[in-house]
Amino acid sequence: MTTPASKPLDPSPRVLLGPGPSNVPPRVLSALGMPPVGHLDPEFVALMDEMQGMLRRVFRTENPMTLAVSGTGSAGMEAVVANLVEPGDRMLVCVNGVFGGRMVDVAGRCGAEVSRIDRPWGEVFDPSEVEAAIKAHRPKLVGIVHAETSTGALQPVDEIARIAHENGALLAIDAVTSLAGVPVEVDGWDVDAVYSGTQKCLSCPPGLAPVSFGPRAMEAIKARKTKVQSWYLDMTLIGRYWGSDRLYHHTAPINMNYALREALAIVLEEGLDARFARHLLNAQALAAGLKAMGIDYVPAEGHRLPQLNCVTIPEGVDDLAVRKRLLSEWNVEIGGGLGDLKGKAWRIGLMGYGSRRESVTLVLSALETCLRDAGAPVEPGAALASSAEVYAGSPAASTA
Ligand SMILES: *Cc1c(COP(=O)(O)O)cnc(C)c1O
Repeated sequence: MTTPASKPLDPSPRVLLGPGPSNVPPRVLSALGMPPVGHLDPEFVALMDEMQGMLRRVFRTENPMTLAVSGTGSAGMEAVVANLVEPGDRMLVCVNGVFGGRMVDVAGRCGAEVSRIDRPWGEVFDPSEVEAAIKAHRPKLVGIVHAETSTGALQPVDEIARIAHENGALLAIDAVTSLAGVPVEVDGWDVDAVYSGTQKCLSCPPGLAPVSFGPRAMEAIKARKTKVQSWYLDMTLIGRYWGSDRLYHHTAPINMNYALREALAIVLEEGLDARFARHLLNAQALAAGLKAMGIDYVPAEGHRLPQLNCVTIPEGVDDLAVRKRLLSEWNVEIGGGLGDLKGKAWRIGLMGYGSRRESVTLVLSALETCLRDAGAPVEPGAALASSAEVYAGSPAASTA
């Protein structure tokens, strides 16, 4: 009996316009395929140093403890929480979507006494309500999501950082979706700990979690009475490998680090401010086109993420049928609603490499066809015409 030869792997060329992963530029894909070197090879060690410098620029921080944890964005969340809380420590988590809820779960598993405040999905927290909760619960650590990918809401955090520090608490933020799409000012806002992921606006495959810990957070780690319960995510051990002793901890995912190095180089070549402006322009063009089809946003104006557009599904339109058609006929992936927004919202991501005029044109024209076929009162061509007006009025380039 002979075994039939398997066909080579051939994934469809999807246009990834959902909540992540986002499309990856060819330069980053090529980096993934380069020959691995050893995790203590002088070339790899030099690459780690270079990446730390690049990550500091992208996070806008001088924190020495700035590096890429092995694992996806969730590993970053777990690394931050597990290192900053010990069993019995109090943590306050602000929950206005899926990822705040996940942080509550992680904190509980780390043995924290967790308190939470909630906001309806799509809304953001006012600093005064966070202040009242800090005064009531006296947490060691406050956790909040900067860019809530489940709702498309952008949470301002600078004022909350100030309030946390006035009350003797640390502030950790989830910047998985915000980093490299909207400003993340780790030093400017005085954030104590931050984590991100590679697969959103950095346009690198999922697999690494950039993190940064500031001086107060490092003090808290030093003052721990118990070991971090996660051996793999113990920042003191990871820091010794990335730092001067180069002490082996685990084998770094070499090729993922190549990919992230290249993705960071692309971000820095474009420039952070130019990148933020590009994300904004393409989001405005998308919004104009959606508006022309009568589609509105879940978050209020002023709190919307340009890289993750969470919009309400028009009355009478079948969520799943549309998303299936987008995938099978246009190769386009958009996200459905989660939790409270299930069946009610679409999440259109314009992240990193995907934040470009072709993406906007493609998703608007595909959605227009689907909506018209579903009998929605949509004027043919209006969406693209409205988005074209936005581009015509802008001097900025729309693609990277
Ligand atoms: C995607 C995401 C995560 C989790 O990242 P994974 O790469 O899926 O582990 C955490 N927080 C936010 C805000 C995210 O968007």
